[in-house]
Amino acid sequence: MKKYAEDEENMTYILVINAGSSSIKYQLIDMDNEEVKAKGLVERIGIEGSQLTHTTIGKEKLVVKKFLKDHGEGMQEVIKAMVDPVYGAVASMDEIQAIGHRVLHGGERFTQPSIVDEEVLDGIREYIELGPLHNPANIKGIETCMELMPGKPNVAVFDTAFHQTMPDYAYLYGIPYEAYKDYKIRKYGFHGTSHRYITMQIENKLGRKDLRIITCHLGNGSSLAAVKDGKCIDTSMGLTPLEGLIMGTRSGDIDPTAVTYLMKKYGMTAEETVNYLNKKSGVLGISGVSSDFRDLESAANEGNKKAQLALDMFVYRIKKYIGAFAAALGGVDVIAFAGGIGENDGYVRAECLKGMEYLGVCIDEEANKGRGELDITGEGSKVKVLVIPTNEELMIARETKALAL
Ligand code: AMP
Repeated sequence: MKKYAEDEENMTYILVINAGSSSIKYQLIDMDNEEVKAKGLVERIGIEGSQLTHTTIGKEKLVVKKFLKDHGEGMQEVIKAMVDPVYGAVASMDEIQAIGHRVLHGGERFTQPSIVDEEVLDGIREYIELGPLHNPANIKGIETCMELMPGKPNVAVFDTAFHQTMPDYAYLYGIPYEAYKDYKIRKYGFHGTSHRYITMQIENKLGRKDLRIITCHLGNGSSLAAVKDGKCIDTSMGLTPLEGLIMGTRSGDIDPTAVTYLMKKYGMTAEETVNYLNKKSGVLGISGVSSDFRDLESAANEGNKKAQLALDMFVYRIKKYIGAFAAALGGVDVIAFAGGIGENDGYVRAECLKGMEYLGVCIDEEANKGRGELDITGEGSKVKVLVIPTNEELMIARETKALAL
């Protein structure tokens, strides 16, 4: 009995929650060794066919198929799975010290992660208009945890926070200043937790912080950040994640007049047009094949010209942003790739950096074929080129531990 009590005292378990509009993704992380102890996904909340998939590391996977009407019922299933005597990870939820939540939009108010109280919840509510799909789900996730695990600290970690160090001349749009003053219309940037994690990994790896870094988070959603001495000075996403790179299904940068013209020609409402630009555009819209780069590349290899065009457009936009950010940084010391594409797709990495010798960038083709964390810097390259597998959950858990424990 004594032994168990001592063990319990020494454990530092943090639950990381990423609540989407109809899903809850979670990980239980043992912060003594930063290892994942359990992870899972509740999907199709409030929709027919809802289910929970839970895996405690070293145990068999648990799948529960039952209708879950809201995030509260979803979270109750997570707790049941977590303490299940066969499939579970802990004897009781009391073993979990704190909960870290991914929150999409923190506006200008949240420059750092915050321990959740009523005031913080109000702040997250304030930005619902800018994150209409995510912020309400994030709030539901937090409220459910507060209700089902009373007394445990909840920490909100914002996707926008890392970018709050951008100077005004970088984050303002060239529209009347009133629009910023009245409605806070400006560039915020997203994937901040990932860009911050990549930055810290690079600083640790190279043993210094005085670096000019371009972090490339390339996944279903993609963004670049320009980081100087550990601080973000510019990023490619904007008021919402729609700006910047061409993505899986998002258009990225587009002339605003094309938007009103599209509305007129296709007879779409404002909402339909935003959906068109977010969900039907990007490499999916151009290729008509897929938003997944594995499908795109196999189609291109079989001679599908539109798939190849989509790939060419994707890498060309990244190349332009790298050039722009190198100029903004006054040179570049490190370019790092992360995300599903950045970590797995050597073809994309090589194409993005092709012809950049003028900037002192060249990569090692052999090293670029590797997997996992890689140094793909070519011989004589002045710029270090790295592949850094991102880990947003671990970053959220670290922030939660630092703030709440
Ligand atoms: P993420 O949003 O970071 O999870 O990235 C998801 C995307 O990564 C997928 O839609 C694919 O386009 C891409 N991806 C994942 N694995 C590979 C791979 N082995 N090769 C190329 N692309 C990949």
